[in-house]
Amino acid sequence: ARPQPEATTQIDSLCPYCGVGCQVTYHVADGAIVRTEGRDGLANEQRLCVKGRFGFDYPRHRHRLTMPLIRKPGAPKEPLDPADPFTHFREASWDEALDFAAAGLKRPPSALAGLGSAKGSNEEAYLFQKLVRTGFQTNNVDHCTRLCHASSVTALLEGIGSGAVTAPVAEVANAEVIVVIGANPTANHPVAASFIKNAVRKGAKLVVADPRGQALDRFAEHSLRFRSGTDVALLNAILHVIVCEKLYDADFVAARVTGFEALAEHVMAYAPEVMAPVCGIEADTIRAVARLFATARSAMILWGMGISQHAHGTDNSRALIALALICGHVGRKGSGLHPLRGQNNVQGASDAGLIPMMLPDYQRVGEEGRRARFEAAWGMDLDPTPGLTVVEMMDAALAGRLRAMYVMGENPAMSDPDLSHARAALAGLDHLVVQDIFLTETAMLADVVLPASAFAEKTGSFTNTDRHIQMGRAAVPLPGDARQDLWIIQELARRLGLDWRYSGPAEVFAEMTTVMPSLGGITWERLEREGGITTPQGKAILFDDAFPTQDGKARLVPASGIAPAETVDGDYPFILTTGRVLEHWHTGSMTRRSEVLDQLRPQAEITVNPDDLAALGVAEGGRLRMESRRGAVEAAAKPDPRLPRGLVFMAFCYGEAAANMLTNPVLDPMAKIPELKVSAVRLLALGEV
Ligand code: SF4
Repeated sequence: ARPQPEATTQIDSLCPYCGVGCQVTYHVADGAIVRTEGRDGLANEQRLCVKGRFGFDYPRHRHRLTMPLIRKPGAPKEPLDPADPFTHFREASWDEALDFAAAGLKRPPSALAGLGSAKGSNEEAYLFQKLVRTGFQTNNVDHCTRLCHASSVTALLEGIGSGAVTAPVAEVANAEVIVVIGANPTANHPVAASFIKNAVRKGAKLVVADPRGQALDRFAEHSLRFRSGTDVALLNAILHVIVCEKLYDADFVAARVTGFEALAEHVMAYAPEVMAPVCGIEADTIRAVARLFATARSAMILWGMGISQHAHGTDNSRALIALALICGHVGRKGSGLHPLRGQNNVQGASDAGLIPMMLPDYQRVGEEGRRARFEAAWGMDLDPTPGLTVVEMMDAALAGRLRAMYVMGENPAMSDPDLSHARAALAGLDHLVVQDIFLTETAMLADVVLPASAFAEKTGSFTNTDRHIQMGRAAVPLPGDARQDLWIIQELARRLGLDWRYSGPAEVFAEMTTVMPSLGGITWERLEREGGITTPQGKAILFDDAFPTQDGKARLVPASGIAPAETVDGDYPFILTTGRVLEHWHTGSMTRRSEVLDQLRPQAEITVNPDDLAALGVAEGGRLRMESRRGAVEAAAKPDPRLPRGLVFMAFCYGEAAANMLTNPVLDPMAKIPELKVSAVRLLALGEV
């Protein structure tokens, strides 16, 4: 007899991983998810990638936190054995753990900071930043947007007055030309990549610009493997051609844009022949790409952290924005600027104010009138000084200025650059409170650990890369004595003197709509009913007639190429670029505890050009040691013929070989994003295993 499908309860929710925000139906039996199914969401049209399809079992991993933990007296703050990670902790009651957590957070505001999460809901992000701003009374609150698209948002706010995408990924179906630069959607936004491939099959022309090379190359009209860190040189050379050959949209420029003359003059110094040896792309190819993009009736630019994670990340984004604007490729069908957001709710967490210089809806803390609105709504004076960013918090902790932190769902002990520095900073705090579902590398350094809710155990709203707010619904119960994140934040708030009594996410969302005009017209009931609503005002394509700037026009800002902080030399002859792999997500805290995903990609690998590997005398699978000026890791060698010689890639999700031990903490001066994409390293053969 054929096996009968298991009887399940079906809950409509979302995938917990990337910013695509695929809609999912969870099939639940005996309190556990047994399978998932893609729903007909705008962003996924029933599709799911391997993470959405198989990465749902992590909440039941044997190391799931189910009780509050307090560090044993005198236990050293150090990374713990993954097989027995609880050695240095004892279990505690919620009252004891919360009292202890709150007591250590009663300090002068400048000694306190909070890191919220792009994986949590909009309501959690909003309450977390409100707690830091009103309970801690500081703007020292940030989250991992600092490490992914801070520079894109800085340039977008400056250029077009809005930090979000101007058109959804699905608009590639209407684009004549699609540019993917500094992004690897096949690995990092796989369902979005499927939309791009479909568009190419229907006739769109694709330009891929990626120093590493990637799977989308075989769909591309032009595949530009430019030299790592020379983005501005390449983009300004393209702009040079468009200006010199008068290929720009003169009507759009005249009506919608300021600063064209200064930009045109600036890019005169970037002739393709001059830039070709700098960026490694032939002048004729630069010209061909410029003509293709500028003469298209519609074109979209999608970019990722290959653009943003540089000391010149803001300049990279400025050049991309200028490219789209002078060709009129914004505000029209099939056209737009789309920084592919990383985590599932990094857009929503940023909108909700998990940013040290911005209140919710990107209202600057330093602008008195805007701050006053929140002071009136929240009933207390707020700090007018922008707070510390992620990497600045670590520096302040090591310098002794920051003494206590509250970290909810982030893992800076894996995601920050120069991990020895970041881990020393976290370990050196007087008091570290971590709220998470596992004993992450960060939680291992905590004084108190608060067991929280996994994605499928909570209800909340989440905003995907397309600005689409969608409902995530609780599908399974919390294990043991783990609690809802909203409950934990409120319990801490009460112990810090705030009289908060939100009944649940609906009430928090209702408050958000009163202080965030971008949520105008959206209610919890509508979200429940419709499942997803695009902001603002349901518009998928923005800025068809004006930009949200003072004069309604976009501003062109010339980009100057700032060289990467490190280049190769005799001691460190390779450039390391870091990123993700298809099967794992971010620091691996969820996917590495998901059985299928970890079996598919169980070990750390250092990916190297085969000729470089041969020169080192190492075969595939042989052990390599990789060293930078900041640290070293050891991992298996993996040849990749797409990588140019001299470039090395490593994913940053493996705790046993953490790539960020090597990365450079130098910051983009404007966005304070670290240069995670360019670090000088050397490789040493360790012999076969
Ligand atoms: Fe989940 Fe992203 Fe994959 Fe969709 S593309 S299933 S949101 S990881």
